[in-house]
Amino acid sequence: MSRIGILTSGGDSPGMNAAIRSIVRTAIYCGHEALGIYSGYQGLVDDEIRVLGLSSVADIIHRGGTILGTSRCPAFEKEEGRKKALKVLDYHGIDKVIVLGGDGSFKGALALAGEGVDVLGIPCTIDNDLGYTDYTIGFFTAVETITEAIGRIRDTSSSHERGHIIEVMGRTCGDLALYAGISGGAESILVPEEEFSLDRIVQKILRGKNRGKRHHIILLTEGLKDPYKLANEIQNQTDVETKVTILGYVQRGGSPNISDRIMATNLGAQGVLALEKGRGALAMGFKNNRAQVFNLEEALEVKKTFSKTLYQELEMVSI
Ligand code: ATP
Repeated sequence: MSRIGILTSGGDSPGMNAAIRSIVRTAIYCGHEALGIYSGYQGLVDDEIRVLGLSSVADIIHRGGTILGTSRCPAFEKEEGRKKALKVLDYHGIDKVIVLGGDGSFKGALALAGEGVDVLGIPCTIDNDLGYTDYTIGFFTAVETITEAIGRIRDTSSSHERGHIIEVMGRTCGDLALYAGISGGAESILVPEEEFSLDRIVQKILRGKNRGKRHHIILLTEGLKDPYKLANEIQNQTDVETKVTILGYVQRGGSPNISDRIMATNLGAQGVLALEKGRGALAMGFKNNRAQVFNLEEALEVKKTFSKTLYQELEMVSI
């Protein structure tokens, strides 16, 4: 029997709760004990740990956020902090730790594995910026949220004959803009992986305007450009009034959609089974339409690729 610690770390994502539920229930089903570590690595350093029973994860599969709470914990990046964490693990008899989060959280798990603890990472971030897995838990819910926002903004843009820049999350990864751009029918997307061309956007707006199009939706990945300056530039060159909406944290919350609930349950359950068999540092990923077990260190080294095919398709259909 193992005592399995579970923590959620870094930015939260819809589906974390579904994964926690799956891990706890599978662990108990297999004869292990599950312990919740609260507020990410901070809770490990500060000994915020409680046993999780079957009913402590009841009624959470559909809830956004994380019942365990999350944080960014600089103390854990230092050896002193990790030494405290190891003592806490030892005190509770926790021999395995499952970390739900993004690449930073996975690096923390790797540091823990370096001290002899068996760890397993489950990819939870709306950005879909981990290269070793096709999708991360929370990504498709965020894409749905952005798609819904595009629909609402398109309604009012059409009424007023306006252009609209919608800033979305993603930082170094353009997947949120790409997938939401396709599902929401955006005219242009700005992503870090593709070269920016103001002229291409302007020409597209002018072509649309000439054939009577009344809206122009542009998705901008955060951090690439100042959306208000860009709106001015577009307005000056097209004479189309252009507004800005920054979606912000709306994208991170909300009830997980069906695919995130299923993927979270799948990766959580398979993660517990993988930890029963494997030692060291592991990661679950969703690759080629199924849950797969990876070596955590190797998983972190896989470079994220951007789908040029989807990008070209978006360009073609938004001519
Ligand atoms: P998001 O995708 O939302 O940014 P993330 O998991 O990448 O999520 P980070 O803020 O990068 O989030 O990392 C979360 C936490 O993981 C940090 O606050 C820190 O406690 C731990 N961590 C990150 N890098 C390391 C490292 N190199 N060594 C030890 N711990 C780390």
